[in-house]
Formats: sequence, C-alpha cells, structure tokens
Amino acid sequence: MGRQFFVGGNFKMNGNIKTIRDIVHNINQAKLDPNVEVVIAPPSLYLLLAREHLRKGIEVAAQNVYDKPNGAFTGEISVDQLKESGITWTILGHSERRVILQEDDQFVASKTKAAIDGGLGVILCCGESLEQREANKTIEVVTTQLKAVADKVKDWSKIVVAYEPIWAIGTGKVATTEQAQEVHAAIREWLKKEVSPEAAENTRILYGGSVTEKNCGDLAKQPDIDGFLVGGASLKPAFVDIINAKS
Ligand code: PGA
Repeated sequence: MGRQFFVGGNFKMNGNIKTIRDIVHNINQAKLDPNVEVVIAPPSLYLLLAREHLRKGIEVAAQNVYDKPNGAFTGEISVDQLKESGITWTILGHSERRVILQEDDQFVASKTKAAIDGGLGVILCCGESLEQREANKTIEVVTTQLKAVADKVKDWSKIVVAYEPIWAIGTGKVATTEQAQEVHAAIREWLKKEVSPEAAENTRILYGGSVTEKNCGDLAKQPDIDGFLVGGASLKPAFVDIINAKS
C-alpha cells in the first residue's frame, strides 16, 4: 500500500465565526476524493466550532501546542486539552512561529515529542529562507530542523513532514515541481539514514507554499510529494479542488 495523500488547511490567524462556519459547510457538502486524508487547522478559538460542525472523517488540527501537561503557562494549550476536545492533530514548527515567535529547533522538537507521546498527530514544518537557498544550504537547513526532532522522537508513524520554503509562503512564488521534488527526495533519503527505512517509506512529505488549485496538479504527480499544507487557498472554496488534486 502506498502513502495516503494528505491535505492540510492552515487558516493561520484568519477567519471569524461566520467565515469558519462557511468554510466547514463548504467542505461538508463537497465531493471529496475518499482516498485523501483531510485535516483543517483553524485558530485555537475556533477549534471546537470546527470540530462540532465538520463531518466525520475529516480531522481538526491545532496550529500549535505546548510541551508541558498543565500549569502556569499563560496563553498556552496542552496536548490533553486538545485531545479531550476531539482535536487529533497539531501543526508544529511553522516558519511563522520559528521566525516571528522565535521558536528554535529544540523547542519545536520538545513540543513534537509531547504531542506524539500524548497521542496527537503532528504536521511538522521545515523549510529554508531565500538567503539559505541561494547559499545552497536548503538540505542542510531542513535536515538540521528535522534532526532535532529525530533526536527526541523515535516513532515517526504519526508525523507528517511539511516542506515549506519560506520564500514561497504567501508570496505567490510556488517552488517549481523540480525544486520541491528534489528537497522531498532528500528528506526521504535523510529519513532512511537517520530514522529508519520504514519511516522513509511511510512518512508523508507535504509541500507547502503558495499552493493553489492551478499548480497543485503537477506537484501532486511528483513521486515524493504526498500532499499539501495549504495556507491562503484553504480559506477559499478552491480548497476542495486541491484536496481532489489527484482525482
Ligand atoms: P500559503 O501558506 O499557502 O498561503 O503560501 C502555506 C503555509 O504557510 O502553510
């Protein structure tokens, strides 16, 4: 059996009660490729709303989670709080959190361990800046980010990796299919050496960064691209077309 295609919608800090209801309604009534795993990540305030209204079979992800079980951590949400609320996934290590909120590799790894140990699925983001790409450091940057996690987490069966070049996020500048495939193949090779051959074979590697209904078809045909993490376009009706990229 091959890897199941996976499409995540990262709403970031967008939406309100009405628009999130509308997006959920649109997904609920759409004809979706039954072979695709779909997960949407609204802002934390709307996780319960989305879970309550979203049809069965589609999961909801947080955009972040903390690595401590409970206590005096103002503004944070725990793994158990998410699980109790029916939220089965979390995004971690998004470049906006790494850059704007200054999360380092160790913190991302610690949160990934807490999430995996607690039974959540993790969409683990990695990716290089334009400067790093131009200095030919892409593979080094991405594998260093992933290595911090591999040092703490041995079981990668509930990790989905999202390769998101920072220069392609929200810019309209999508990586070419060749650029994306090259990095995805390198990540898979790295998984084989540093985690296990099984992890290399089974881990879904998503592409993220200016994915639209227009460019998703070609990207989806690449052998090492197993789905997408979609930002801006996940707020639009065309998200459904991206979910159905392979059908
Ligand atoms: P974008 O964002 O699709 O709007 O480029 C992707 C992401 O940051 O996950």
